Parts: sequence; C-alpha cells; structure tokens
Amino acid sequence: MGDMANPVILTVDDDPVVSRAVARDVRRRYGDRYRVVRASSGPEALEALREVKLRGEQAALLLADHRMPEMTGIEFLEAAMDLFPAARRVLLTAYADTEAAIEAINVVDLDHYLLKPWHPPEEQLYPVLDGLLDAWAASPDAALAEIRVVGHRWSAPSFTVRDFLARNLVPFRWLPAEEPEGARLLDAAGATEADLPVVVTTEGKAMVQPSQAELATLAGLTVLPATDFYDLVVVGGGPAGLGSAVYGASEGLRTVLVERRATGGQAGQSSRIENYLGFPDGVSGAQLTDRARRQATKFGAELLSTREVVGLDVAGSARLLRFDDGSEIGAHTVVLATGVSYRLLDAPGLADLTGRGVFYGSTATEAPSCVDHEVYIVGGANSAGQAAVHFSRYATRVHLLIRGADLTGSMSRYLIDQLDRIDSIVVHPHTTVVGADGEEHLRRLTLCDARTGATRTVDTSWLFIFIGAEPRTDWLDGRLVRDRRGFIVTGPDLLADGRRPAGWTLPRDPYHLETSVPGVFAAGDVRAQSVKRVASAVGEGAMAVSLVHRYLEAQ
Ligand SMILES: Cc1cc2nc3c(=O)[nH]c(=O)nc-3n(C[C@H](O)[C@H](O)[C@H](O)COP(=O)(O)OP(=O)(O)OC[C@H]3O[C@@H](n4cnc5c(N)ncnc54)[C@H](O)[C@@H]3O)c2cc1C
Repeated sequence: MGDMANPVILTVDDDPVVSRAVARDVRRRYGDRYRVVRASSGPEALEALREVKLRGEQAALLLADHRMPEMTGIEFLEAAMDLFPAARRVLLTAYADTEAAIEAINVVDLDHYLLKPWHPPEEQLYPVLDGLLDAWAASPDAALAEIRVVGHRWSAPSFTVRDFLARNLVPFRWLPAEEPEGARLLDAAGATEADLPVVVTTEGKAMVQPSQAELATLAGLTVLPATDFYDLVVVGGGPAGLGSAVYGASEGLRTVLVERRATGGQAGQSSRIENYLGFPDGVSGAQLTDRARRQATKFGAELLSTREVVGLDVAGSARLLRFDDGSEIGAHTVVLATGVSYRLLDAPGLADLTGRGVFYGSTATEAPSCVDHEVYIVGGANSAGQAAVHFSRYATRVHLLIRGADLTGSMSRYLIDQLDRIDSIVVHPHTTVVGADGEEHLRRLTLCDARTGATRTVDTSWLFIFIGAEPRTDWLDGRLVRDRRGFIVTGPDLLADGRRPAGWTLPRDPYHLETSVPGVFAAGDVRAQSVKRVASAVGEGAMAVSLVHRYLEAQ
C-alpha cells in the first residue's frame, strides 16, 4: 500500500506545459511524503478526488489554475470542498486577477493565491506550500483515524461491504487479506480468514462479517425511526424519494424516508449525470446524493438506511408500513419512490460469478481495479454508454456488447458521439453473452453472434451488465393497482372508462400521482408511464408533496 497511503496533492491546469511544470516542482519537494496527482480539467480532477475519497485516502492540498474552459478553478475548488473540506486550497492565475481572488476568498475560503510563473520555486512556491501542508498536517482531519476493511479480493461479501461504504461516502482503507498489512490487521483483530470480511472501526473495534445495519450504524447512518407516526413516509431514497423528503420536510411535514440500502438509488451509481439542470459540467451520482441527503437532513427529514419496507396496510386514515423485521411505522400519507432494479442476465455461470467479476451496473469501487484490463459491458442504453466512457479511463479496452445493429435507437446522440471519439471503446453489434466461467473470479466469457449463431470465447475478468430494469413491487400485490409489468398506476390512468378504481371511497378522482389507495402517492421510475430520468424523478417527488398537502387539507 506504501505509496497509495500517502496523502494527495492534486494539481489541475488545462495547459499541459504549465501542468507538467507544477507537478514536477511539487513532486521534487514533496514526492516522498505525498502522492502528486495531476489533472487537466476540473471534472477530471473531481473524478480523481472521488477515487481518492473512495480509497479512504486524504487530500492535503489542491492547486488549481483559475481560467480553465470546462470549469473554473474556483468552481472546482468549491466542488472539491464537498469531498475534502480540510484540504488546503490554492488558486493559480497568470496575471493579477483581483476579481477571481476576491471571489475565491469569499466562495471557497481560499488559503492562497499564487501568480504564475513561480520561479524559482524555492522562493516563490515552496515556502507557501510548506506552510499550508504544515497547517493541514496539524488539522484534526489529517490525523483522522480511518475505517479499515480486510477481505478477499474476489469475494462477493467483501465486495458488498466495500460497495456499501463507498455508496454512503464513508472513507475506508481496503486491505486484501492476502497482503501483509491485511494479514497483520487480521491477526491483530484476533480473526482468521474464515471470519472475512472484517471491518475495523476508527476506535479499533473489529466487526466480523458485519450486517448492512451494523455498517450503517458504524457510518453514522440512522436505522431506527425516532417516532412511530409521521405526516409523510417516503419509501425509497433515490432522486424521487430524496426530492419528496426535501420538499416534505422543508414545508413543515414530519417526514421520514426509508431506504433499504444506501440513499442515491440508481442515480447514485451513475459516474456522471450530464443532463441534470444546473450542472453544465455534469455531476456524479454520489455527489448529487450527498448534497440531497444533507439538504433533506438540514430541513429536518429523518433518513433511515438499510430498512426495507415489505408491507402496506390501511387502518382508517392511517397508512401503515411494515419493515422486514416485522416492526411498523404509521403515517397520514405515503410516497412510494422505490424505482427499479436491474434485470438479471440469464446465462450459465453468471449467477455464481456475480460480485466476483460480474456486476450489475457500474460500481465506482471496481473501476480502479480495471487498470490494464479488458472490460466487457452489456447494454445499449445511456447507462451502458456512460459506463463505457467511465471505464475507458482505466481499462486498456472497453467492449460494448449490444443486441441490435447499432446504438442509434437506444442511446442519446451526445453519448454515441462521445463513444465514437474514444479509440479504446469497441462496439460489438448483434452480440450476446451466452456463458461465463472462472473459479475464484470471472476468467472467460462466451459470446454469440446473433446473426450466425457462431460462438467465441474471450478472456476477461470484468463484465458489467446494464440490460434494463424492472420495478420490485411484489410486496404491493393486491394492495394497489399495478400494470402488467409491476409499475404503479396513478391518477387519470386509474380511471377505466371514467370509472374510479375498485375500493376507492372518496367522492373525487385520484390526484395526478395518487395510487388506487387514497393518500398513497407514487413518484419516479416506479410509476407507470413515468419518464426514466433524474430530473423527472426529482420533479415528481416534489410534486407528490404538493398533492400530499392537498390530500391533508381535505381530510
Ligand atoms: C448507471 C445509470 C446511469 C444513469 N444516468 C442517468 C443520467 O445521466 N441522466 C438521467 O436523467 N437519468 C439517468 N439514469 C436514470 C436515473 O438514475 C433514474 O431515472 C432515477 O434514479 C430514478 O429515480 P427514482 O428515485 O425514481 O428511483 P431509483 O433511483 O431506482 O431509487 C429507488 C430507491 O428505492 C429503494 N427501494 C426500493 N424498494 C424499496 C423498499 N421496499 N424499501 C425501501 N427502499 C426501497 C432502492 O434501494 C433505491 O435506492 C441512470 C441510471 C443508471 C442506473
């Protein structure tokens, strides 16, 4: 781990000559104690910082050029503060740019403002950076003890733990049990390989094969409701659910959001959402989730993680929701925002290797491990396209396997163009996966050309599958009206030939997002006929809350 564990100094400049010069000068003096990471744009630098965060490492210093085309230095430093608030921030400019300096001091609490060129560095650069790095090292965050996870590289339970912590933006250090440091820690914890994965807390307590609820508690997430009755229970913590929680709580409703895994939903898995209003440079799903979560909590919403809702009952005007452990909470109103989950690909060998080289959706935790490997992605929609772009930053080659002849009918034009521009991405039309094998980990895939039926075998350790999704609403069967595929029917769609749904008792038609149970609303991807997008999910989440108010006023 040696070098990887050093805190990071990140430099970002769009001019390659300057960028190399800064990194060289910084590396010369600090390279033995710090890992110097160089980026050529704000978005690239943010991506790099996110990886640093996921690996549980620290960022000590950020040096950003101000005038960069995609994202200014100030915008970058502002976004970087979300990830590493304690990192020292320096802005570089080519001339005395007072306006930028004033803005930077106000917006990003700038530590220093440096003019280029800084020669000789011994006089112009190092004294400044020495001071900042000393100050950083003395700050409590720098010395922050970290959570460590010891596990097997190719084990599904170890992957689940890492994935859960990463999705909740909990910094941790990953230590494979096969490596000396992992083995030492395991020994120190009095555990053996049979106990893996083992999580060692910041206080040094070892947790053997922790459950998701134990991990949630460790991460400071809430798992138990504070009370047993609310104005609004939101089920599902994706963009729609978070949207409802923010609006519900900010408008004075006692609101609790219940999420069975980690907040963020599908959007939380997206490496970059490019089409969400207000983020011209894109935003990673994790960042959007983190902000939404903080916003919901700020307004007083309770967010419960690792709690699955498995039942809905009606008792007079109360709506009761049952958890998987049998406990219940009640509310005047409910927003169902349970989204959709990946459809599973059916081919011999895949099920056994899931989590061990075969993944549904892309997982940020795995991308750095794909360096120098060939990666296969199945799917022709935007999510597969985004993943191909993301993995192309790490893998030697990314193979996109699609059933159709091309991507035009299934993927947005901007993504198709992006794929075309990246040489290392190869699209394989008419190709399906018909088999997978490997022992500890995926080793080979069998691919079939749908036109000829010919099969071939390829060696690879990585397969990421994006073949559409379906709602998991079986628990609502018989409770409310769903369509053939399980999506929840709402509003005017419930009126068959103008007749209200069976069991509907109120002297009015269901409101726009209301289900066939009065006071229970559906928002986002789980709703029949919804647009499967982040913006529309957030919008429906907000709109559901206005209908909740209308419902409560009429009670
Ligand atoms: C990889 C990827 C990239 C994408 N990129 C984009 C993009 O660039 N732009 C865009 O607009 N859209 C994008 N999308 C689509 C977008 O993410 C979805 O439309 C959006 O997330 C839907 O939000 P939602 O809240 O309705 O549902 P989801 O995001 O699916 O969230 C539902 C949540 O409910 C939870 N849940 C389910 N059942 C229960 C239960 N019984 N109890 C408790 N919790 C439960 C789930 O765990 C989940 O967290 C992408 C999707 C993926 C997968």
